[in-house]
Amino acid sequence: MFSDKNSFKDAYLEKYAEIKGKSIEEGTLWDKYHTLVVLLKEEISLCRAFTNYTADQKQPAKQVYYFSMEFLIGKLLNNYLINIGIQTIVHEGLAELNIDLQELIAQESDAGLGNGGLGRLAACFLDSMAFLGVVGHGNGIRYKYGLFEQKIVNGHQTEIADHWLKNGYPWETRKPDKAIVVKFKGNIRVERVQGRLIFHHENYEPVLAVPYDIPIFSYENPFLINNLRLWSAEPLSSELDLALFNQGNFTQALSYKSEVEAISYILYPEDSNHAGRELRLKQEYFFVAAGLGAIVRSYKKRNGTLKDFSQGVAIHINDTHPALCIPELMRIFIDEEGMDWEESWNITVDAISYTNHTIMPEALEKWPVSLLKNLLPRIYMIIEEIDRRFKEKLLRRFFNCEELLRSTPVMREGQICMANLAIIGSHSINGVARLHTEILKQHVFKDFHRIFGYKFTNLTNGVNHRRFLLTANPALSELVTEAIGPGWKTNANELKKLHNYQEDASFLEQLGKVKYQNKQRLALMIQEKQGIYLDPHSLYDVHVKRIHAYKRQLLNVFKVMDLYNRLQRDPEAVQGSYSFIFGGKAAPGYHYAKSIIKLIHDLAQKINKDQRMKEKLRVVFLENFNVSLAERIYPAADLSEQISTASKEASGTGNMKFMMNGALTLGTLDGANVEIKEAVGDEHIFIFGLTAGEVIEYNRNRSYKSWDEYHTNPRLKKILEQLNSNYLLENAQEFRAIYDSLLLYNDEFYVLKDFESYMRTFEEASKIYLNQDMWLKSSLHNIAESGVFSSDRTIREYAHQVWRARCRRIEEKEE
Ligand SMILES: *Cc1c(COP(=O)(O)O)cnc(C)c1O
Repeated sequence: MFSDKNSFKDAYLEKYAEIKGKSIEEGTLWDKYHTLVVLLKEEISLCRAFTNYTADQKQPAKQVYYFSMEFLIGKLLNNYLINIGIQTIVHEGLAELNIDLQELIAQESDAGLGNGGLGRLAACFLDSMAFLGVVGHGNGIRYKYGLFEQKIVNGHQTEIADHWLKNGYPWETRKPDKAIVVKFKGNIRVERVQGRLIFHHENYEPVLAVPYDIPIFSYENPFLINNLRLWSAEPLSSELDLALFNQGNFTQALSYKSEVEAISYILYPEDSNHAGRELRLKQEYFFVAAGLGAIVRSYKKRNGTLKDFSQGVAIHINDTHPALCIPELMRIFIDEEGMDWEESWNITVDAISYTNHTIMPEALEKWPVSLLKNLLPRIYMIIEEIDRRFKEKLLRRFFNCEELLRSTPVMREGQICMANLAIIGSHSINGVARLHTEILKQHVFKDFHRIFGYKFTNLTNGVNHRRFLLTANPALSELVTEAIGPGWKTNANELKKLHNYQEDASFLEQLGKVKYQNKQRLALMIQEKQGIYLDPHSLYDVHVKRIHAYKRQLLNVFKVMDLYNRLQRDPEAVQGSYSFIFGGKAAPGYHYAKSIIKLIHDLAQKINKDQRMKEKLRVVFLENFNVSLAERIYPAADLSEQISTASKEASGTGNMKFMMNGALTLGTLDGANVEIKEAVGDEHIFIFGLTAGEVIEYNRNRSYKSWDEYHTNPRLKKILEQLNSNYLLENAQEFRAIYDSLLLYNDEFYVLKDFESYMRTFEEASKIYLNQDMWLKSSLHNIAESGVFSSDRTIREYAHQVWRARCRRIEEKEE
């Protein structure tokens, strides 16, 4: 690796000449960015060759494969320069060539191959696995189009295709020699040979899965490089389509081609919602079969036999989208390797572990039997057999098991329940925050918990603090490092040393300055894009995440409406000055969420136009919330809105990213907010509203009446009337569905119920903000306690408790 800027500069110029064949002056920014990425990849793969060499000397490490339908990795360049430790060298070297590193960073596509939290978690995990020296590989789909780009036109969300590959993506390497054939449809012919049943899959439609590998560079350890493998679907140029062409059957051949390519064409933009379309099921099987095919192939090459497969390989499924791993691994063992059912089953269960991400019923995946049977005939047979054997076991083991037989089978009412399959076919099931895991055990999977209590465990989510603090917030990172040294970068728990500065007035003042600068940076960006200036002296109250009824952006909107109403009556009614910042995408077919965006937009217009509010209230909706924007926003936030209906948010990770950057949480006792509260103590967080237990009880006994809230709270009544009139808009119908959901359909997410305590708690927070000294102390306290929410901690837990894999980094340290 480059030791100084001159050796970097020389290598860069040489590489540039080699691949571009023209002078730097003639090159575009893209040329310059492209060259830098190619150079880094090559330098690092030299290091990798060295790793493979040294790794072979020792006992081979267990390989962890993280299967996820989504990897929301965002941009890599800056993060990687920091990980490799050459950011300064590269910045200075390029500057001498009159190249601005920031401009090159801007060239990179923000790889948006995910919807939100689940996909971002997968990306954070890749970083932490590499950092800790877990030999871990991501396995996913190389969508040609990632999550849509959001444009707000007249308050309405419109979606633009995210053509992230249009200039090419230099981080990836295509590996055609590692392709796998995946088989769909057709029929199964069963043959009996020497007393054994042999299954032949015939007349299937083949799809070629071609892998593209993206290297994962670990922080400060160039010898540990992991891999993210994304599969692309391509037609198999076999006799099949040649024959069709030769017969002059062009249309059929072409339709085969486009049907195949559709598989990796686009990411489904639904978050927390299961649509049940055939193409989605195809996608799921496609990357499962391709990934497992490659894993088994390479395992056999290394070990000869599959007997000890689960000692050398751990397969993790991120939610149920890859749950077909279970029947597919069984199929490989039985049909391709000739193993018997019992042995195959034991190895499969021992290899696979599953993370549940949601308790929302509409998000629990179910597939109609007819669909799966037609698309994956052999997989269907295996699922049927898994189900049959499971039920048989229940009957043998439990005396009165009618209830268990109703709730736990894989096949129920003509549907295949993927969560049930995942639980039965894996050795570990985990929730993503303590409260969430408890709800799984006591409610959602109560019966499974009776059967497989030993399988359930909790692993609270975490986020990559090297991306969301070190990289995203350089000013704060520098301040922290000056104070407590650099150890926190590799051990986030060291952030606790910041407690020593709790009473240090000059440190707190600098902390305030850093926040101010970050707010100013965001303000300038917003002004440039949207022409609204948010005064950095005002409290930045930030609500960014997917737009969803359960996340209750609506409750926040009601807060803003209420403040506005009161300020209009009495300019002294509210102390302080506020900037309300919203952002997030709505699924294209989710009309309710889209009208929430429209509502925020119209309210913003009304308030921002009102000259009397100039010093008091500002509201913005930020377009196209993605990882790059997130990295700008979290560092600039004062107040972090985490106000989901208790019990509905499994963990949240935005809450952790805000906390690390010194924002205080205003939230319900939901997801990881519970653990954030425990970490910081009651004085350093603002908690309000119904608890999860209360929500679950209300849902059960149905005693909540939203009309009561309407009639007893005049402030709320006024807001609802405004919503149902042409107060915001000529067309009062626009927000009718929102109004109806609250009153006609009894407010499923308890927005009205929690309004009063939300307002009270917000006012508490704003009062403390007026006392900057107190606020900054709390902010520091939050940063100091955020180390436990680093994904390094989470991955260490996964490695030890679930994957039984070594973290080589720690072992090396201990040696
Ligand atoms: C962290 C993150 C999320 C998840 O946010 P929540 O507040 O946990 O819902 C979604 N999108 C992006 C781009 C993120 O960085």
